[in-house]
Amino acid sequence: MALVPFDDRDGVIWYDGALVPWREATLHILSHGLHYASGVFEGERAYGGHIFKLRAHTDRLIGSARILGFEIPYTADEIDAACQQVLAANDMVEAYVRPIAWRGTEQLSVSAQATQIHLAIATWAWPNLFGADRMKGVRLGLAEWKRPHPETAPTASKAAGLYMIGTLSKHGAEAEGFDDALMLDWRGQVAEATGANIFFVIDGELHTPTPDCFLNGITRRTVIALARRNQITVVERPIFPDEMKLASEVFLAGTAAEVTPVRQIGDLHFTPGPVTETLLRDYEALVRMSPEEVEQRAPI
Ligand code: PMP
Repeated sequence: MALVPFDDRDGVIWYDGALVPWREATLHILSHGLHYASGVFEGERAYGGHIFKLRAHTDRLIGSARILGFEIPYTADEIDAACQQVLAANDMVEAYVRPIAWRGTEQLSVSAQATQIHLAIATWAWPNLFGADRMKGVRLGLAEWKRPHPETAPTASKAAGLYMIGTLSKHGAEAEGFDDALMLDWRGQVAEATGANIFFVIDGELHTPTPDCFLNGITRRTVIALARRNQITVVERPIFPDEMKLASEVFLAGTAAEVTPVRQIGDLHFTPGPVTETLLRDYEALVRMSPEEVEQRAPI
C-alpha cells in the first residue's frame, strides 16, 4: 500500500481558531516545539460522528500542557467544539482526531517563556492500529528502552518528547518481526506497549500495571469500568515480567489500538480467550453509544 504523506492530502485543519486548507496548515521551521519537543497532543476516535470520551481527552490535553508549563489559550468547551467542527468540516464520521499544542517561534532556546502557544486539530480515517485481523492477536517484542522514573521525565503528560522512546522501541520490535514492543519501566516492572496499556488475565482476574510512570489511558480506565460491570475482578498492581507466563490471556487497550488481543510476548505465547472477547465486544458496543449512555455505563 502506497503511503500518502500527511502533507499531501486534502481537507481542512483547525489551526489557531480557523479552518485552513490542509496543505496550508504549516508552521515555521524555527518553532520551539520542533527543536525542544515542547508539544503535547491527543489521539481520539470518532464513531458514528461522536468523539468517544471527548471531554476526558480535552482535559488531558490541557493537563499535559500544564505539566510542560504552558496554558492552551482555549477553554475545554472551545476545544471540544473545535474537534467536532473539524470532523464535520471534513465530512468525517468514523475517524481519528489529533489535537496538538506547541510552543511557537518567539524564542528558540531552552528557555521559552515568551513563546506563543498554538493549537491545531486534524482528522483522518485510521482503521484499527493493528488491522482488521487483530482478533488473531498481535506479537510484542521486549523493548530495550525503559519507561523513565516520573522524576526523570513528565510521564503523566502526553508529551511529544516521550514518544522518542516509543519510536525507538517500536522500531526495535519491528526489526525483529514483531508488531509492537512491550516496555518495562526503570524498575524492571511491566509498563505498557508503545501506544497502549496492557492487561493480563490471571486466574480469571484482570491484572494491569499501576500507571505511576506512564499514561493512565482513557481506554484503560474504560475497560476497567466495563470489566467491573461484568463482575470481573480488576487488580492494579506492580507486575514483573516473570509473572507474564501465568497469564491465560493478554490484551492491549488504547484509543488507536482499541481492545487488541496479544498472542505473543517475546518467547511466551497466549491464546485470545473469553475475557478479552467480552471486553472487546463491550468496548465496540460502548463507543457507538451516545455520550450520555457512555458516561452512564462506563464513567472513568
Ligand atoms: N500509552 C501510550 C504511550 C499512549 O500513547 C496511549 C495512547 N494515547 C495510551 C497509553 C493509551 O491511552 P488512551 O487509552 O487514552 O488512548
